[in-house]
Amino acid sequence: MEERSDRTIFVVTDLKQYSYCPRIVFYTYCLPLIRPVTFKMEEGRAAHDEEMARERRRTLALYGLEEGIRHYHVWLESAELGLRGRVDLVIEVGGEGGERIPVEYKQTRREAGRHIRQQIAAYGMMLEETWGRPVRRGLILSLLSRQVTEVLITDELRQEVREAVRAMREMVEGERMPEAPRRRGKCRVCEFRRFCNDVL
Ligand code: SF4
Repeated sequence: MEERSDRTIFVVTDLKQYSYCPRIVFYTYCLPLIRPVTFKMEEGRAAHDEEMARERRRTLALYGLEEGIRHYHVWLESAELGLRGRVDLVIEVGGEGGERIPVEYKQTRREAGRHIRQQIAAYGMMLEETWGRPVRRGLILSLLSRQVTEVLITDELRQEVREAVRAMREMVEGERMPEAPRRRGKCRVCEFRRFCNDVL
């Protein structure tokens, strides 16, 4: 597929933000100079770096695998989706014709919600396009509970990713500010709340 040079290229973490509140993605792309860096974001980065050091020391048994080759911090992109991002880990199992498994670290004990599943599916789709190998599942490692959750990258999940990217693109390229979420509790803890005069 030919890529338009003026097309907005999103990052995978936008899927999570869009699911929380579409306005966050709108502000990020339509008013990029106002994006704050919060303590929570910096804390999250530090936790990921610490985990990466542990990852290099442990076996793959945590992921239910006997062997495989680990690739750390892998940059991926998809011209088809207009999406890019850096996945925490890719495990290569079984050589040339084998499996490629994207792994994401998450700072939560909660069960993986739909937006996290969409993120791992997006990494899988980009991995297929970049490395040219089919990807049928991804793994999520909770940094708090040390539990690993398997996510099957189904056709339904792939379609959700395509739909979410399409909706973000329509919003950003059309410069259409979306409605605030119905649940205004989200606004109380939102780093963008001072820009949303209509919610609090
Ligand atoms: S304050 Fe509320 S409406 Fe505004 S960006 Fe945050 S969550 Fe969305």
